[in-house]
Amino acid sequence: SEDLLVVDNLKTYFPLKKGLFGQTSGHVKAVDGVSFKVKRGETLGIVGESGCGKSTTGRSILQLIKPSAGSVRFHGEELIEMPQAKLRDMRSQMQIIFQDPYSSLNPRLTVATILAEALSVGASPSDTRPMRERVMALLRLVGLNPQHADRYPHEFSGGQRQRIGIARAIAVSPKLIVADEPVSALDVSIQAQILNLMKELQEDMGLTYLFISHDLGVIRHISDRIAVMYLGRIVEIADKKCLFENPLHPYTQALISAVPVPNPEKKKERIVLGGDVPSPANPPVGCAFHPRCRHATEICTTLRPTETVMGPDHIVACHLYAHDERSQQA
Ligand code: SF4
Ligand code: MG
Repeated sequence: SEDLLVVDNLKTYFPLKKGLFGQTSGHVKAVDGVSFKVKRGETLGIVGESGCGKSTTGRSILQLIKPSAGSVRFHGEELIEMPQAKLRDMRSQMQIIFQDPYSSLNPRLTVATILAEALSVGASPSDTRPMRERVMALLRLVGLNPQHADRYPHEFSGGQRQRIGIARAIAVSPKLIVADEPVSALDVSIQAQILNLMKELQEDMGLTYLFISHDLGVIRHISDRIAVMYLGRIVEIADKKCLFENPLHPYTQALISAVPVPNPEKKKERIVLGGDVPSPANPPVGCAFHPRCRHATEICTTLRPTETVMGPDHIVACHLYAHDERSQQA
């Protein structure tokens, strides 16, 4: 099926303020050359520890943060440098769901008012039902009691509030939803309910998701394909089955080894990652992962690995796999 979103060499750099006189010196390369495609109706998961640039990637795609370079084509249209007025029109087709919907729900407005506002933005001319009825239908769709329409956001639980956040996002009939850690603040028992709701809505409405999480268990639950991010770059991308059965990048291997396995007979070695993600303001030279990588060799400390295509939908950026490419070049 067709690609809804094509991201090519996306870069988002932030100026770094440094020095006594506040002079600018250098950049934080929060997103440093990210490329991927998302097909209509699929879910691409982006996983990585916090500080890897996942959120900045999502916001840069939606043009909520201005990217420094690269291309973002949505539905065949280039979003970067798109005039503001046109971008505003496109906005209803691309929605974002946040980790904490509470902070983005106006506490003075009832849920009915919040949703009516969203519904009128995405007004579909064919829908002639009274607004109140449409609000009720929307609440039912996300599993909330329509009789609670006149309550305020604080009167709902965390999980219910995320349902309101989802309702507001789908009210405008979007094509793409960027979900940034949408279940990370919720109890584990509630997480699965929200993920299943998102899956149902995806099927019913033909939604495409870019789903961002630090939690590989959550990513596994929801994604069709998975991109693993480390310090502003995608280090591996593959379809879900392939990534879990045959993880190639040492960072991916470490992340997967930390996900609990239901079957204790399939016990695997836990690869412990030492330290935190280094500051993107001062990333390691060569492969940015090398200080934490147990396979690092000399070349990893000097040369940044390029992407190697390992299969029909499997790309990795690591010197361990660069062999063929280099011999081809020779
Ligand atoms: Fe490890 Fe080197 Fe591969 Fe980086 S390029 S992940 S340091 S083996
Ligand atoms: Mg984040």
